[in-house]
Amino acid sequence: MNSLPENYRAAGDDELTARIEAVKKRMGKRLVVLAHHYQRYEIVSLGDYIGDSYGLSRIAAKSAEAEYIVFCGVRFMAEAARTLCRPEQKVYLPNLSAGCPMADMASVEQVNEAWESIKQVCPSSTIMPISYMNTLTELKAFTGRNGGLICTSSNAEVAFKWAFERGEKLFFFPDQHLGRNTSKRMGLKPEQVYLFKPDSQISKTDQQAIIAAKVILWPGYCYVHTKFTKDHIDEWRAREPKVKIVVHPECRQEVVDGADAVGSTAFIVRYVETAAIGSTIAIGTELNLVSRLARTHTDKNIFELSGESCAICSNMFRTSLADLCYTVENLDTIPQIMIDDEIKTDARTALERMLEIGG
Ligand code: SF4
Repeated sequence: MNSLPENYRAAGDDELTARIEAVKKRMGKRLVVLAHHYQRYEIVSLGDYIGDSYGLSRIAAKSAEAEYIVFCGVRFMAEAARTLCRPEQKVYLPNLSAGCPMADMASVEQVNEAWESIKQVCPSSTIMPISYMNTLTELKAFTGRNGGLICTSSNAEVAFKWAFERGEKLFFFPDQHLGRNTSKRMGLKPEQVYLFKPDSQISKTDQQAIIAAKVILWPGYCYVHTKFTKDHIDEWRAREPKVKIVVHPECRQEVVDGADAVGSTAFIVRYVETAAIGSTIAIGTELNLVSRLARTHTDKNIFELSGESCAICSNMFRTSLADLCYTVENLDTIPQIMIDDEIKTDARTALERMLEIGG
């Protein structure tokens, strides 16, 4: 963070690490540091828990002894932790500028407008909203208020099944690729999946497509996971016939279709851990995670799938050791993550439905 005091900006990594470790030791279980898999290596090394957004939200909900929860990730993750933990617990995001561009692709106004339009087109259908974890807290609240739930890439299929038991159509936002890939895994045909066009008039053709659809998708996407292409897969298979390709479901459908395995960040970590020694694995997900897996599993050959396009999440990369050190050394004086009570109640309902269905 540019606004950090000089003594944090000038300190070297070894000094910052030692200072963070000293605070953690002094505070014991009163302080919990959560680190997302896409954080820098040195931040992950200091996490009490490392995981994806699903795993870490479960931990945040269960960290009963912690007075302070520091979430090294992006804003929607820290807000989900704030929503799930007890009111007296304090939640922090070490770099407040770390957002998620995909989450910002669906505004509250746009989604509300879309919801009303879809209901007008299908007045007699029960429509269930499902919000991806990567979304604004206000939209999680919208989902909770309207009977829906949150999902992550770990449990999207279970969430879709849950919603189809309660409604005829699903309205899923904001990641079109996770929505499309999950719909296909559940046996839906392309014509049963409609990509909504926000901010434009719904034509007669669109109306018919919405009526025919089982799943209505928002046109959001992750700029990191959509960097991977089918060409990258073809090049790998031509060069290394024994390669195993594993990708995240935020990748485009043709990439998911061409892979040997697809799954959440936690799934990818397990895939690498359980692969045979000597395996060659090309991974379609964020570079910091792939680099850490390669560094940890030196008995396997681990590569990033594109090899060229630098699939790095610059938002995850924003959190530095200096940010983390500043946060843990100033817990009682710096701003916590706060959410309006009314929004929190509805968002919590949607998040708790997700935790109930499991992954
Ligand atoms: S990797 Fe993609 S979805 Fe995840 S925080 Fe970065 S931009 Fe958002």
